[in-house]
Amino acid sequence: MTQSIGFTDIDFERTGKQVGFLNLPSSVHDDAWGVVRVPLAVIRNGTGPTVILQGGNHGDEYEGPIVLGELIRDLAPEHINGRLIIVPAINTPAVEAARRVSPLDGLNFNRTFPGDPLGSITQQLSAYVNDVLFPLADAFVDLHSGGSSLSIIPSAIVEPAEDAELAGRIRAAVRAFGAPMTVVISNFGDPRTSTASAVRAGLVTVGTEMAGTGTVSPEAVRICRDGVRNVLVHLGVLEDEVAPASGAAGDMLYAIAGPRSYVMATQAGVFEPYQDLGAAVSAGQPAGRIHFLTDPQRTPEELVHGADGIVYGRRHPGRVKPGNCCVVVASKCEDRS
Ligand SMILES: [Zn+2]
Repeated sequence: MTQSIGFTDIDFERTGKQVGFLNLPSSVHDDAWGVVRVPLAVIRNGTGPTVILQGGNHGDEYEGPIVLGELIRDLAPEHINGRLIIVPAINTPAVEAARRVSPLDGLNFNRTFPGDPLGSITQQLSAYVNDVLFPLADAFVDLHSGGSSLSIIPSAIVEPAEDAELAGRIRAAVRAFGAPMTVVISNFGDPRTSTASAVRAGLVTVGTEMAGTGTVSPEAVRICRDGVRNVLVHLGVLEDEVAPASGAAGDMLYAIAGPRSYVMATQAGVFEPYQDLGAAVSAGQPAGRIHFLTDPQRTPEELVHGADGIVYGRRHPGRVKPGNCCVVVASKCEDRS
């Protein structure tokens, strides 16, 4: 297998706390022998499991990077049993640009796994996570927030796993997060996400979607802060569970049931939603309508829900074009774990 050309001063085997960078060589017009620097911290003590904590997968999702920065500043080796590999802003170019995709190559990091160690910068990043970090780890936490285009109910995410035993351990770890909702999301079955890749590598994998809209939600920061800590307690790396800020999540498990759960725009215009987040809806019920602001005589185009459930996510910008996701419905599903 081709090796990553990324390099770091951090020794993943050393006990103690190290904060530094992963460096990916980047030879561009104004910097012939430069690097893209990705912040990286390793905290190791004792014999517990290795957990990768990743934020900044998308550069416009902030609760994860904020909480992971706090952990890097606050945790000392004596606080933990195991090894934390903390990458608070994995797609650093996208984080600095406040964009979902990298400004360097236009790629969505979360659609590039398993990556290419000799590809573009984003492909090199995913290859580093997949080929170098995943083999070191027992568990992987990937902190998302919905991004600029979505307003979403803060939730912990289950990535489906074929292996029943691993699936059970994943659900237990995701439940430990203690988010207001727990949702199974397969991203249309896309295998190129970091969580899908982590599950293929056999890691106990926990995802999140916090409040979104490209800003910082104080409530979501609290949920994320407590959730990460509780997952680490569940995995045996930290002691002293904290009560989730969000209150009890309950036993209900939700899932994005597939393409019918997404209400997509059919016309270019401005989408008027009919329901708020958390509203109960049923298949066939109108979800909203698209207005044609410069053609006032034209009847707005009504969109309908394709699934029963609750409104889990909603497009944030009003302006839509055909194919844009306007509403996402999460449906109740049976927890077989
Ligand atoms: Zn994301």
